[in-house]
Amino acid sequence: MTRSPLLLTPGPLTTHHETREAMLRDWGSRDAAFIAMTADLRRRLLAVARAEAGHIAIPLQGSGTFIVEAAIATLIAPAATLLILINGHYGERMTAIARRLGLRVEVAQWPEDQAVDPQQVDALLAANDAITDVAVVHCETTSGLLNPLEAIAAVVKRHGRRLLVDAMSSFGALPIDLGRTPAVAVMASSNKCLEGVPGIGFALVERGAIERSKGNCRSMSLDLHDQWQGFERNGQWRFTPPVQVVAALVTALQRLEREGGPAARLTRYRRNLDVLAAGMRKLGFALFLDPIVQAPIIATFHAPREPWYEFETMFEALAAEGFVIYPGKLTRADSFRIGCIGDVDHHDFERFLEVMGSVVKRMRKN
Ligand SMILES: *Cc1c(COP(=O)(O)O)cnc(C)c1O
Repeated sequence: MTRSPLLLTPGPLTTHHETREAMLRDWGSRDAAFIAMTADLRRRLLAVARAEAGHIAIPLQGSGTFIVEAAIATLIAPAATLLILINGHYGERMTAIARRLGLRVEVAQWPEDQAVDPQQVDALLAANDAITDVAVVHCETTSGLLNPLEAIAAVVKRHGRRLLVDAMSSFGALPIDLGRTPAVAVMASSNKCLEGVPGIGFALVERGAIERSKGNCRSMSLDLHDQWQGFERNGQWRFTPPVQVVAALVTALQRLEREGGPAARLTRYRRNLDVLAAGMRKLGFALFLDPIVQAPIIATFHAPREPWYEFETMFEALAAEGFVIYPGKLTRADSFRIGCIGDVDHHDFERFLEVMGSVVKRMRKN
């Protein structure tokens, strides 16, 4: 077996071997041991966001988009109007999902390098009584930008509306405290800052909101109310659970706890970003975002406007040395991205920068 590459991507990402080893045994989905493991998983997910008091953890088979779609389809009532705050691709994706579901949608848009402005949200909500729900992306993985979650949540709460948060690329590292930040639902997945393997999305949903959502969802497999009722009934998943992925995620959550929780993980990621950004600057690569809005999750770099540069060539040369980076996804600037998350630390980034240095040198010569 060849050695795994280092994935400097927003997920799937580099996982610890202990997490992968948790997948080496089989579990019957109706075994008492697996039912207990599912209960442990749901408890641990709530604890990451201090959500034990008022929320329910509902895991769902699938990637992150599945849980975003399931949450919107289940929680947004047919007569509701959903305002979506967009400053990147994942805000656009929520809009596409809501429109596909036939929901009433309003959008507010900011440039990809600017955070959602809570004061503008305040004005929009004041001007439109029809809006019942608001959705926002916490960390916009398109650019790596951090939106001001607490301030947005406070505005939405003050207007008596409900907030849904796509926290896919922030959950487990950036602080989310549902004991203090009002949100009816937070959605995330197994394979980003929790450092598990792909296969599970989950939502932490306010108890009252999930109780009142019966009958909203017109998809059977994405109905989070029914998924929750399944867990309530007998502790089991409604349909075949990804048993090994569950085992890996529980191990990953234990590792998060041992590391010191999200705050300690954030410190590690921040150091990754600092080392990466400083080293890349020396090699002539500039960050796309202002440091004020840059989250230590994924860094977007401007593509050099020089004849020697070609993303594919750089990507292949780095991959040959065991480092996988990520193409850009911005609509208006040529860029590429390097993830700071996963089971990687500043030593890995120092090694990466050495390789990057020699790749750039070679490309400049050719
Ligand atoms: C990764 C991600 C998703 C989900 O993407 P999948 O490819 O379906 O896992 C959704 N929103 C954000 C902000 C993400 O970073």
